[in-house]
Amino acid sequence: MKVLCNVLTEDKVIALTFDDGPDQELTPKLLDHLHDLGIPATFFCIGRKAQKNKSLLKRMHLDGHLIGTHSYSHSNWFDLYSSAHMRREMEQSSNLVFEAIGKKPLLFRPPYGVINPILRRALRGSGFHVIGFSNRAWDTSSRKKEVILTRILKNLRPGDIILLHDTIPETIHIIKNMAELLRQAGYQIVPLDKLLNISAYEL
Ligand SMILES: [Zn+2]
Repeated sequence: MKVLCNVLTEDKVIALTFDDGPDQELTPKLLDHLHDLGIPATFFCIGRKAQKNKSLLKRMHLDGHLIGTHSYSHSNWFDLYSSAHMRREMEQSSNLVFEAIGKKPLLFRPPYGVINPILRRALRGSGFHVIGFSNRAWDTSSRKKEVILTRILKNLRPGDIILLHDTIPETIHIIKNMAELLRQAGYQIVPLDKLLNISAYEL
Protein backbone atom coordinates (compact mmCIF):
# COMPACT_ATOMS: atom_id res chain seq x y z
CA MET A 1 0.00 0.00 0.00
CA LYS A 2 1.32 3.36 -1.02
CA VAL A 3 1.14 6.12 1.59
CA LEU A 4 1.71 9.55 0.10
CA CYS A 5 3.67 11.61 2.63
CA ASN A 6 5.40 14.20 0.44
CA VAL A 7 6.85 14.70 -3.04
CA LEU A 8 10.45 14.86 -4.07
CA THR A 9 11.00 18.25 -5.63
CA GLU A 10 13.41 21.11 -5.55
CA ASP A 11 10.60 23.62 -5.95
CA LYS A 12 9.66 25.29 -2.70
CA VAL A 13 6.07 24.09 -2.70
CA ILE A 14 4.17 22.59 0.22
CA ALA A 15 0.58 21.70 1.15
CA LEU A 16 -1.31 22.36 4.38
CA THR A 17 -3.63 19.77 5.89
CA PHE A 18 -5.96 20.07 8.88
CA ASP A 19 -7.23 16.98 10.70
CA ASP A 20 -9.99 16.13 13.16
CA GLY A 21 -12.57 18.83 12.34
CA PRO A 22 -14.82 20.33 11.39
CA ASP A 23 -15.11 22.21 14.64
CA GLN A 24 -18.18 24.38 14.92
CA GLU A 25 -16.33 27.21 16.60
CA LEU A 26 -12.72 27.03 15.34
CA THR A 27 -13.05 25.88 11.73
CA PRO A 28 -14.99 29.00 10.62
CA LYS A 29 -12.25 31.18 12.14
CA LEU A 30 -9.59 29.24 10.30
CA LEU A 31 -11.57 29.53 7.06
CA ASP A 32 -11.71 33.30 7.56
CA HIS A 33 -7.92 33.45 7.96
CA LEU A 34 -7.27 31.22 4.95
CA HIS A 35 -9.60 33.39 2.91
CA ASP A 36 -7.78 36.57 3.96
CA LEU A 37 -4.44 34.96 3.18
CA GLY A 38 -5.65 33.45 -0.09
CA ILE A 39 -4.10 30.07 0.66
CA PRO A 40 -5.53 26.60 -0.02
CA ALA A 41 -5.80 23.76 2.48
CA THR A 42 -7.08 20.21 2.74
CA PHE A 43 -9.41 19.20 5.56
CA PHE A 44 -9.41 15.57 6.70
CA CYS A 45 -12.81 15.55 8.37
CA ILE A 46 -14.09 13.09 10.94
CA GLY A 47 -17.43 11.69 9.70
CA ARG A 48 -19.37 12.09 12.92
CA LYS A 49 -18.38 15.77 13.09
CA ALA A 50 -19.01 16.34 9.38
CA GLN A 51 -22.52 14.99 9.86
CA LYS A 52 -23.33 17.83 12.26
CA ASN A 53 -21.50 20.51 10.26
CA LYS A 54 -22.42 20.02 6.61
CA SER A 55 -22.64 23.76 6.04
CA LEU A 56 -18.97 24.05 7.03
CA LEU A 57 -18.08 21.39 4.47
CA LYS A 58 -19.97 23.37 1.84
CA ARG A 59 -18.05 26.49 2.81
CA MET A 60 -14.68 24.70 2.64
CA HIS A 61 -15.55 23.54 -0.86
CA LEU A 62 -16.83 26.92 -2.03
CA ASP A 63 -13.71 28.57 -0.62
CA GLY A 64 -11.61 26.30 -2.86
CA HIS A 65 -10.29 23.90 -0.22
CA LEU A 66 -10.20 20.13 -0.57
CA ILE A 67 -12.01 17.69 1.71
CA GLY A 68 -10.72 14.24 2.54
CA THR A 69 -11.97 11.68 5.04
CA HIS A 70 -10.44 10.66 8.34
CA SER A 71 -12.80 7.78 9.34
CA TYR A 72 -16.26 8.17 10.83
CA SER A 73 -15.54 7.56 14.51
CA HIS A 74 -11.83 8.38 14.90
CA SER A 75 -12.04 5.76 17.63
CA ASN A 76 -9.01 4.93 19.78
CA TRP A 77 -9.65 1.36 18.73
CA PHE A 78 -9.77 2.02 15.00
CA ASP A 79 -6.64 -0.02 14.26
CA LEU A 80 -8.24 -3.02 16.01
CA TYR A 81 -11.43 -2.95 13.91
CA SER A 82 -12.08 -5.51 11.18
CA SER A 83 -11.38 -4.59 7.57
CA ALA A 84 -15.13 -4.56 6.90
CA HIS A 85 -15.72 -2.14 9.76
CA MET A 86 -12.92 0.17 8.61
CA ARG A 87 -14.22 0.14 5.04
CA ARG A 88 -17.73 0.91 6.27
CA GLU A 89 -16.43 3.95 8.15
CA MET A 90 -14.55 5.19 5.09
CA GLU A 91 -17.63 4.83 2.88
CA GLN A 92 -19.88 6.38 5.51
CA SER A 93 -17.70 9.49 5.87
CA SER A 94 -17.13 9.70 2.17
CA ASN A 95 -20.93 9.62 1.57
CA LEU A 96 -21.40 12.43 4.07
CA VAL A 97 -18.98 14.60 2.13
CA PHE A 98 -20.84 13.70 -1.07
CA GLU A 99 -24.13 14.79 0.51
CA ALA A 100 -22.59 18.14 1.44
CA ILE A 101 -20.65 19.04 -1.72
CA GLY A 102 -21.77 16.61 -4.41
CA LYS A 103 -18.31 15.08 -4.80
CA LYS A 104 -16.99 11.81 -3.44
CA PRO A 105 -13.57 12.23 -1.84
CA LEU A 106 -10.65 9.99 -2.70
CA LEU A 107 -8.26 11.37 -0.11
CA PHE A 108 -8.12 9.31 3.08
CA ARG A 109 -5.92 9.85 6.09
CA PRO A 110 -6.03 7.03 8.64
CA PRO A 111 -6.79 8.11 12.21
CA TYR A 112 -3.59 8.35 14.30
CA GLY A 113 -1.64 7.68 11.10
CA VAL A 114 -1.90 3.98 11.83
CA ILE A 115 -1.24 1.69 8.90
CA ASN A 116 -1.64 -2.03 9.47
CA PRO A 117 -2.49 -5.13 7.40
CA ILE A 118 -6.18 -4.89 8.34
CA LEU A 119 -6.35 -1.35 6.97
CA ARG A 120 -4.45 -2.45 3.90
CA ARG A 121 -7.16 -5.06 3.28
CA ALA A 122 -9.91 -2.51 3.94
CA LEU A 123 -8.44 -0.19 1.31
CA ARG A 124 -8.03 -2.81 -1.39
CA GLY A 125 -10.01 -1.84 -4.46
CA SER A 126 -11.47 1.22 -2.72
CA GLY A 127 -9.78 3.81 -4.92
CA PHE A 128 -8.77 5.91 -1.89
CA HIS A 129 -5.37 7.59 -1.90
CA VAL A 130 -3.78 7.15 1.54
CA ILE A 131 -2.34 10.47 2.64
CA GLY A 132 0.31 10.75 5.33
CA PHE A 133 2.46 13.76 6.15
CA SER A 134 6.15 14.68 6.28
CA ASN A 135 6.05 17.60 8.66
CA ARG A 136 4.04 17.82 11.84
CA ALA A 137 3.83 20.47 14.50
CA TRP A 138 2.57 18.17 17.25
CA ASP A 139 0.03 20.94 17.79
CA THR A 140 -2.20 18.58 19.77
CA SER A 141 0.47 18.02 22.41
CA SER A 142 2.46 21.23 22.75
CA ARG A 143 0.22 24.21 22.47
CA LYS A 144 2.77 26.97 22.81
CA LYS A 145 2.41 29.05 19.67
CA GLU A 146 6.16 29.61 19.23
CA VAL A 147 6.86 25.90 19.63
CA ILE A 148 4.35 24.99 16.95
CA LEU A 149 5.84 27.52 14.53
CA THR A 150 9.46 26.58 15.24
CA ARG A 151 8.79 22.88 14.75
CA ILE A 152 7.27 23.41 11.33
CA LEU A 153 9.92 25.79 10.06
CA LYS A 154 12.89 23.91 11.46
CA ASN A 155 12.08 20.73 9.55
CA LEU A 156 10.62 22.29 6.43
CA ARG A 157 11.55 20.67 3.10
CA PRO A 158 10.31 21.33 -0.44
CA GLY A 159 7.37 19.02 -1.22
CA ASP A 160 6.26 18.70 2.40
CA ILE A 161 2.75 17.85 3.52
CA ILE A 162 2.18 19.67 6.80
CA LEU A 163 -0.10 18.19 9.44
CA LEU A 164 -2.10 20.57 11.63
CA HIS A 165 -5.43 20.40 13.45
CA ASP A 166 -8.38 22.76 13.08
CA THR A 167 -9.49 21.73 16.56
CA ILE A 168 -6.65 23.53 18.36
CA PRO A 169 -7.13 27.25 19.13
CA GLU A 170 -3.37 27.98 19.06
CA THR A 171 -3.10 26.56 15.55
CA ILE A 172 -5.79 28.95 14.35
CA HIS A 173 -3.95 31.83 16.05
CA ILE A 174 -0.59 31.12 14.41
CA ILE A 175 -1.82 30.53 10.87
CA LYS A 176 -1.28 34.09 9.64
CA ASN A 177 2.14 34.22 11.23
CA MET A 178 3.03 30.86 9.74
CA ALA A 179 1.91 31.85 6.24
CA GLU A 180 4.08 34.96 6.47
CA LEU A 181 7.15 33.02 7.64
CA LEU A 182 6.67 30.45 4.88
CA ARG A 183 6.41 33.24 2.35
CA GLN A 184 9.59 34.86 3.68
CA ALA A 185 11.37 31.52 3.36
CA GLY A 186 10.32 31.43 -0.30
CA TYR A 187 7.68 28.72 0.01
CA GLN A 188 4.43 28.59 -1.89
CA ILE A 189 1.39 26.83 -0.43
CA VAL A 190 -0.34 24.78 -3.11
CA PRO A 191 -3.42 22.49 -3.11
CA LEU A 192 -2.65 18.91 -2.04
CA ASP A 193 -3.99 17.36 -5.27
CA LYS A 194 -1.69 19.61 -7.32
CA LEU A 195 1.30 18.83 -5.09
CA LEU A 196 0.74 15.08 -5.43
CA ASN A 197 -0.67 15.19 -8.97
CA ILE A 198 -3.69 13.05 -8.05
CA SER A 199 -7.48 13.47 -8.11
CA ALA A 200 -9.07 14.54 -4.84
CA TYR A 201 -12.53 13.37 -5.87
CA GLU A 202 -14.17 10.65 -7.92
CA LEU A 203 -14.76 11.84 -11.46
ZN1 LIG B 1 -6.88 12.55 13.68
